[in-house]
Amino acid sequence: MKRVIHWFRRDLRLHDNTALRAALAAAPEVIPIYILSGWQRYHHWTGSPRQQFLCGSLAVLAANLEKRGGRLIVRQGAADEELGRLAADTGAEAIFFNRDPDPFGRAMEEKLEKLGIPLRPFKDVAIHERDEVLTAQGSPYRVFTPYSKAWRTLPKPEVHAAPRKISTPGNLKSLPLPDLGVWGLKLDAEIIEPGEDAARRRLEAFVRGPVHKYAELRDFPAAAGASRLSQDLRYGLLSPREVFTRAGASHAYVNELIWREFYMQVLWHWPRVLDAAFDPNYDGVKWFEPGRDFDAWRNGETGFPIVDAAMRQLSATGFMHNRLRMIAAMFLTKDLHIHWREGESWFMRRLVDGEIASNNGGWQWSAGTGADAAPYFRIQNPWTQSARYDPKAEFIKQWVPELRDIHPAQLCNAPKPGMRICAHYPRPMVDHAKEREAALMMFRAKH
Ligand code: FAD
Repeated sequence: MKRVIHWFRRDLRLHDNTALRAALAAAPEVIPIYILSGWQRYHHWTGSPRQQFLCGSLAVLAANLEKRGGRLIVRQGAADEELGRLAADTGAEAIFFNRDPDPFGRAMEEKLEKLGIPLRPFKDVAIHERDEVLTAQGSPYRVFTPYSKAWRTLPKPEVHAAPRKISTPGNLKSLPLPDLGVWGLKLDAEIIEPGEDAARRRLEAFVRGPVHKYAELRDFPAAAGASRLSQDLRYGLLSPREVFTRAGASHAYVNELIWREFYMQVLWHWPRVLDAAFDPNYDGVKWFEPGRDFDAWRNGETGFPIVDAAMRQLSATGFMHNRLRMIAAMFLTKDLHIHWREGESWFMRRLVDGEIASNNGGWQWSAGTGADAAPYFRIQNPWTQSARYDPKAEFIKQWVPELRDIHPAQLCNAPKPGMRICAHYPRPMVDHAKEREAALMMFRAKH
């Protein structure tokens, strides 16, 4: 072949990019394209923090391609139409891309088949995907631990370097690199630095030190003991193979990488989880309508310091620590009795790392409706969670300045009924003990 297309999707990097490497091996000329989607017409599952991260990452990708003699072509529209047009205009002989496991990505891949152009799809987004990890009976796993054991026994692919040179034909029309204006959005959060170069620096910094204490510190939001690589894996600024190879010495860390792939295979085998409880026993739980309680949760004004700190961190930065995601999600579902889908959707709008499979899995896990979820009767108490994971209230004080002068012990215990922790901070909006009982009744009714 003389000329082929590489369609960049959630693989915005040059290092260890499976489809790009194959495209470069197949033809002397490669046309790298990114297609901006008109997602607002179909869903509201993203927002300005993530779109800003995307824009920044595309700018770095374009610059890195240029350094190697290539050029990123940007188009906007339906991917099948744009790819069909580009192939017809350039005489490209095949379309190379890395497969996307989520239902929207898969649906588009099916549409491409109608173009009549040879397609070259590759596995890249996960180390093991689809039905590579199956039980002895050949069925997909519903439970994490046996899945993770089976995952660990499989041979692992190699990591490859970035290409030195890319040759893109001249005179191709391209839109300018996008900014938030393309979607009528404005930046409203201070997000982590986008782009492959920043992601590689983050990986280096993590493997040089924190990875060795990951198991010890990962659960403490004030300790910065986790890797902060989730957005990089989400957008493919790093390959999961490289992250696994560099950080694989930590058993605990690899477990988290496996959770990511576990949820991807859950979504691949049971796409209905996007609309319904993974465990159909809980499809009929009578959740409350989201109203002012939902607003208080979103705004970080619940009167529960750890929940408010977490929700304010999310609004301000587009990120929330894993332990806090569980606390915030359990609070919404078990204390406010609001459907996990409302929380799932809010997280998708705010999170820079918002990823359909992990987010759905995390929400269903916390709500007690998911694959290998916390059983519905194991309801975390936000006060004791604070005492355990933020004992000095360092995290709370960072994000809830009204509470800066309060003794940490007061932030880990509910104030007396009707009282406030301090004058400028709301009363706890619910009594956790009472709502716990109410949640148990809601679930028992369906069990
Ligand atoms: P680390 O602790 O350093 O973990 C390493 C990597 O493993 C992460 O970067 C991530 O890719 C993966 N990972 C870690 N924990 C999980 C997990 N429980 N499930 C799946 N993958 C995991 N993660 C997302 O990437 N996108 C989401 O939209 C998302 N939504 C979530 C919603 C809820 C309610 C919950 C409870 C968890 C969610 N997670 C999500 C998982 C997890 O919270 C984040 O991946 C993690 O906090 C990111 O920080 P980190 O990179 O420092 O993680």
